[in-house]
Amino acid sequence: MITRLPATSCPVCQSTLDAHGDELDDRSAARAPRAGDYSVCVYCLAILVFTDPHTLRVLTAAERAALPADDPVFEVQATIRRFQAARN
Ligand SMILES: [Zn+2]
Repeated sequence: MITRLPATSCPVCQSTLDAHGDELDDRSAARAPRAGDYSVCVYCLAILVFTDPHTLRVLTAAERAALPADDPVFEVQATIRRFQAARN
C-alpha cells in the first residue's frame, strides 16, 4: 500500500519524499506509518526512521547494528536497488 504524505526531505540526500510504501502484501494489515517505523529512501537507499508520521531521521549506528540480518527493511533496500538497476 502506498501512503501519500506531506513532502519532507531525506535527511541523507535531501531528496523530496512524499510517499511511503508498506512492504506488506496483505492490504488489510497495511497502515499509514507511525513513529518508530522504518523506511528506505528510494533515491539513496538510506534506512530512515519516522519520528512522527511526517518526519524522518537517519537510523543510528546502534539501531543499525541491532537489526537482524533478515529484517524486512533489507529486502526493501534490495528491491529498490534491483528496480534502480533495471531502469539504468
Ligand atoms: Zn535519500
